Amino acid sequence: MPDNMRSIAILGATGSIGTQALDIVARYPDRFRVASLVAGTRADELFALARRFHPRAAGLLEEPACIPDDLKDIEWVFGPDCAVQALKAAPADDALCAIVGIAGLDAVWTALDVCSRVLLANKEALVTGGALVMEKARRLGRDMLPVDSEHSAIFQCLQAAHGVPVAKLILTCSGGALRDWDIARMRTARVEDVLAHPTWNMGAKITVDCATRINKGLEIIEAHHLFSMPLSRIDVVIHPQSIVHSMIEFEDGAVLAQMGHPDMRGPISVAMGFPQRLAHGARPLDLTEVGSLTFEKPDQARFPCMELAREAQRMGGAHPIALNGANEVAVEAFLKREIAFGQICPIIEATLEKTEVCDIRSIEDVHAADEAARRTARSMLRRQPC
Ligand code: NAD
Ligand code: MG
Repeated sequence: MPDNMRSIAILGATGSIGTQALDIVARYPDRFRVASLVAGTRADELFALARRFHPRAAGLLEEPACIPDDLKDIEWVFGPDCAVQALKAAPADDALCAIVGIAGLDAVWTALDVCSRVLLANKEALVTGGALVMEKARRLGRDMLPVDSEHSAIFQCLQAAHGVPVAKLILTCSGGALRDWDIARMRTARVEDVLAHPTWNMGAKITVDCATRINKGLEIIEAHHLFSMPLSRIDVVIHPQSIVHSMIEFEDGAVLAQMGHPDMRGPISVAMGFPQRLAHGARPLDLTEVGSLTFEKPDQARFPCMELAREAQRMGGAHPIALNGANEVAVEAFLKREIAFGQICPIIEATLEKTEVCDIRSIEDVHAADEAARRTARSMLRRQPC
């Protein structure tokens, strides 16, 4: 392989992040070689990607009826552990972890064993297994490069800060699709309303998370783990234009921001190319065209989920895992139109109330706490028909 050629596992290959990462691979055929491609259910889409990118291994959650003849040279793996199997079958320098939900946690865990760098989009892996994952990354000397735009922005600002102590991290938040809705209207927001994100084009689950603003809560927890920053020094500002992707504040009050159009190819390419920067095709930022940048305080009364996440992390143990598990259950039910939008947050809150304080010492403990929270949340779905 040429010197700067890196092999990469793309986990969540058919998703919003996965396909944009593959756009960057296609732009730089002399820099990236795809070791494996993994997806959930859309086999035909993965077949098309496999024809284009020729991975050594490929995985699907569900085994399809057959594998096309021209793809039989690839090592195929199936089942809930398909990402773990694919990582082991075709070791890669880097793993882009872009499976959605706690379903991606085991892949992150294995990627730390077999890859030298983890490019992390799958924030739920840190919300649920953060302390264990970060300890393992440190112990094995692995780089965790953030892909989430806010964390990528902070990472880029920290690079520019050259080790100067940081007083605060300031995450920006677009406000989501229901930013200007009143509480009564929000309760019955339809799936279509919620999926119409004003600035970012993303997968369905994270778009719902943006509308409830639990996404920002998950990101507070993600930032806490990635940058070893106490929760009390992580602030959030609402910034509807999504141009400032996040900021760091120094002890003298100076603030450093990273800006760009809302285009995930930016943060994905920063992680993939690090320490080099790769042109990725996004429009250059012209601030005179943007005109004005505005910032507001988050509104807790209408969007209680963000503080619920902060509180769950303060409680520690099984609480952030329960927050995430209950949210995954509630969001899935909302997307299937089984519950109203206004029921998502109460289900999470009630699940947290029923969660016992306990220590989480292993990934098995994480999965057990997740299962318990899902059972609790599911029992509430039954009691709360839409
Ligand atoms: P998506 O729904 O568009 O894609 C998810 C991918 O994971 C798909 O390829 C799907 O097939 C695969 N997948 C789902 N369950 C799986 C399983 N059990 N095993 C194997 N593959 C599975 O989601 P997305 O929007 O790309 O988000 C992916 C992750 O990145 C999430 O954790 C999200 O929070 C994070 N993220 C996304 C964005 C964005 O712009 N989309 C931005 C920041 C962070
Ligand atoms: Mg984000």
